[in-house]
Amino acid sequence: MNQDILNTVIIGSGPAGWTAAIYACRSGLNPVVVSGPEVGGQLTTTPEIGNWPGRKDSPDGFSLMQSLQEHAVSLGTAVKSDTVVKADFSSDIKELTLSSGEVLKTRTVIISTGAKAKYLGLESEEKYKGKGVSACATCDGFFFRNKTVAVVGGGSAAFVEALYLSNIAKKVYLIHRREEFRAEKIMVDKLDALRDSGKVEFVLNAKVNEIIGDGNKVTAVSVEQDGSVRKIELDGVFVAIGHKAATDIFKDQIELYEDGVIKVGFGSATQTSVKGVFAAGDCADRVYRQAITSAGEGCKAALDAEKYLLR
Ligand SMILES: Cc1cc2nc3c(=O)[nH]c(=O)nc-3n(C[C@H](O)[C@H](O)[C@H](O)COP(=O)(O)OP(=O)(O)OC[C@H]3O[C@@H](n4cnc5c(N)ncnc54)[C@H](O)[C@@H]3O)c2cc1C
Repeated sequence: MNQDILNTVIIGSGPAGWTAAIYACRSGLNPVVVSGPEVGGQLTTTPEIGNWPGRKDSPDGFSLMQSLQEHAVSLGTAVKSDTVVKADFSSDIKELTLSSGEVLKTRTVIISTGAKAKYLGLESEEKYKGKGVSACATCDGFFFRNKTVAVVGGGSAAFVEALYLSNIAKKVYLIHRREEFRAEKIMVDKLDALRDSGKVEFVLNAKVNEIIGDGNKVTAVSVEQDGSVRKIELDGVFVAIGHKAATDIFKDQIELYEDGVIKVGFGSATQTSVKGVFAAGDCADRVYRQAITSAGEGCKAALDAEKYLLR
């Protein structure tokens, strides 16, 4: 066997990447993880993870991800602190070029490059991220029990977030810049039905100008609506205007959906349109986008890669 050719390269060091590495090590694949620009992935900036099974102490995201990394490395994972800038999947031996210029040759690739929530681009939004501004109701909704929140957006994702929050929060404002929604009618009707009780209020033709806070937490939003400015007092703002998968470098190599999410399910759950290339986590998911689901997909991808190599 050619020494220079690796069995598995895992691109990304979030929950999907480290879990794939743990399973790949235990299968004897000697994986290499290319950790990317954000070692540990999206979770590392989060002060409290309250939904990682077995951790009722709600660890901070950075230490949780460090423990995954330590586990993967203790089993023999090799880590390259670099970023993949080019991928060539045209032959059985895949080539990945790193920003250092090094080229990795490998039989299988597990893409776990994650995704990023889109934000409004306001300075005040940046200031209050993690202090009342969030892009994930499943992750942070719990902290707003019986409080007042706003969801910004008008697509299906915004309605899913608003419906989820309507079970937790005292009141949910849905702020949308148009009058029509892109969300499915069934979801619009469901949220609409909650307006009578006053639990949900639609703020339409409205643009968020500023997130207002006391320095430590969000206290209100300033909204421009029909030419006038309105201040809405609240405790949290959930931005739900979409996600961007980190998949640009793969767009000529594997099939992607229009929004950049990787298509999987070709032959096995995590296989992409190219044999030997698997994808796991947020880069191939537009529904769940959780640390635990990403970890689960990472496990599946490593098992799928192992089966592919056995064949
Ligand atoms: C603020 C915030 C709070 C959250 N809170 C929770 C929570 O409480 N509970 C929960 O379950 N989920 C939470 N989530 C969601 C969770 O973080 C994601 O679902 C999860 O991190 C996705 O894991 P992943 O491994 O797919 O990708 P990511 O965590 O996004 O990791 C992607 C990895 O890929 C790397 N990468 C990207 N491009 C390249 C490249 N070209 N070359 C090499 N590497 C690359 C990055 O450096 C990174 O290491 C939160 C998300 C955010 C943003």
